Amino acid sequence: MFVAKRLTRSKSVRLARGLSSRATTVLSSVDIPTTGQELSGVYDGSWKGSGDILESVCPTTGEVLARVKSATPTELRESLAKSREAYRYFRSVPAPRRGEILRQIRYALSKKRDELGALVSLEMGKIRTEGIGEVQEFVDICDYGVGLSRMMNGRVVSSERPGHSILEVPNPLGVIAVLSAFNFPVAVYGWNLALSLAAGNATLWKPSPSTPLCSIAVTQIISRVLEENGIPGAVAGLVIGGKDVGEAIVEDRGVDMVSFTGSEAVGRAVGKVVQSRFGKVLLELGGNNAAVIMPDADLSLAIPAVFFGAVGTAGQRCTSTRRLYLHRDIAPEFLERLKKLYASVRAGDPLAKETLLGPLHTRNAIKVYTDAVGYLRDAGAEIVTGGERYSSPPLDQGYFVKPTIALPKTADPQDKIWSTETFAPVLNAAVFEDIEQAIEWNNGVPQGLSSTLFTRDLRTVGKWIGPEGSDAGIVNVNVGTSGAEIGAAFGGNKSTGWGRESGGDAWKQYVRWSACTINFSDKAPLAQGVDFSA
Ligand code: NAD
Repeated sequence: MFVAKRLTRSKSVRLARGLSSRATTVLSSVDIPTTGQELSGVYDGSWKGSGDILESVCPTTGEVLARVKSATPTELRESLAKSREAYRYFRSVPAPRRGEILRQIRYALSKKRDELGALVSLEMGKIRTEGIGEVQEFVDICDYGVGLSRMMNGRVVSSERPGHSILEVPNPLGVIAVLSAFNFPVAVYGWNLALSLAAGNATLWKPSPSTPLCSIAVTQIISRVLEENGIPGAVAGLVIGGKDVGEAIVEDRGVDMVSFTGSEAVGRAVGKVVQSRFGKVLLELGGNNAAVIMPDADLSLAIPAVFFGAVGTAGQRCTSTRRLYLHRDIAPEFLERLKKLYASVRAGDPLAKETLLGPLHTRNAIKVYTDAVGYLRDAGAEIVTGGERYSSPPLDQGYFVKPTIALPKTADPQDKIWSTETFAPVLNAAVFEDIEQAIEWNNGVPQGLSSTLFTRDLRTVGKWIGPEGSDAGIVNVNVGTSGAEIGAAFGGNKSTGWGRESGGDAWKQYVRWSACTINFSDKAPLAQGVDFSA
């Protein structure tokens, strides 16, 4: 993982020489200065930041795109105080009015959708169509939030006592901190902000320290809308920083809910700390997602779906397909055809239209990939394709690795090969005999994010989505493991953290619920007929 660090002289010299026109075009289009000045990484109504300098590095070229001043501990405390103040104001703004502000944010984002999408490609490394898709997701969840702002309803419950009513009332919760991962540097914040803002909270975003520019560009757009509407900027604040800033937020009792997206290891620590101070926590952690292919599957659907699931975003989606379970009858044909598709992958600049495979996000991710492949080889796996870096120019300048299919010797889901999320394009395949065995393997790992089954047999579908079926939070049929829409609640079970974001009932976590019993009679009977008369 990228680690916050002070600049070395050689790196500042590299930036001072001037940015490539490729980078300048993208950055200028989203109002990120390209003159080499250090950028402010904190927004709480005004822009500031005087902490450690973080570098945004382009994973395609290794070019330093910008240097960003992170939050000092004092600045973080100030921003948290501003968030609290903003919440006190915003909670009394009527929900439909909050929805109107969200509608304006939606409009401002959609006007810059393609430019922001290109920025995601430049800084994170995913291909342009996926970068744009990610911003579109933010736009979509804003639409959803606008609708919700008129529908975040409580309930009236029948009382057993005459002349009484019970209401279940949602009210704004407080300050919501969003700690997000590098791989969705825009959408994950969007999922949270749209619901949190509609619910009347102040949201404070701590993005991944390796994608600071995406968060600055998004916050610039949103802050303009807030300011135009006379709403305190700290309703949607930003604190850029590394682990230290994250830890300080998680420990702070002034943060009512921490919505954390990231690895299982960090999520475990975050969950414990928030729980120990009785805060609310929403965890969206690592996935280790399987595709199960039955003998009657339509392979013309299944093969491209596995290809996109495993190779798309260079295997850096939480929902990427990492495990492939093939029925014995179709396994050889499936692998042969999948291998051909892998051979057609066009790796290159994620901003170029024809590119299907961008780089890994960091240099460290290459080590994760090579270690995983090395472990597979040592364990006697057959590497069907891939298994190495791209070593010729210009790809050797960036963090490019070849998508890999491996046939491990073991199919034991508890073996490290199968039970660990390797955040890179490595797809492990195994052959099964019947659906029961495939489901057992699918469920046999610690994570429970996404899963899919390809079949035309209704009976197998019933089993797959029923009590004896997949135990993941996302259980698809004839659709790949990745690429969810915003309408349903998104999230995973087991070590993926049980969190739910985005659509469905996810909004209910962003409010505090109260049960209110109201007596509008002249008598005061006790519940359950209890008699306490003196
Ligand atoms: P990460 O866990 O390294 O970092 C996530 C965030 O936590 C970053 O903002 C980071 O600065 C912060 N952080 C690091 N240490 C911290 C600490 N001790 N206390 C508080 N905050 C801390 O994850 P990453 O490498 O950025 O992202 C990849 C991971 O995220 C993968 O495991 C992926 O599956 C997961 N992910 C999950 C989902 C989901 O919805 N389930 C979505 C996207 C990514």
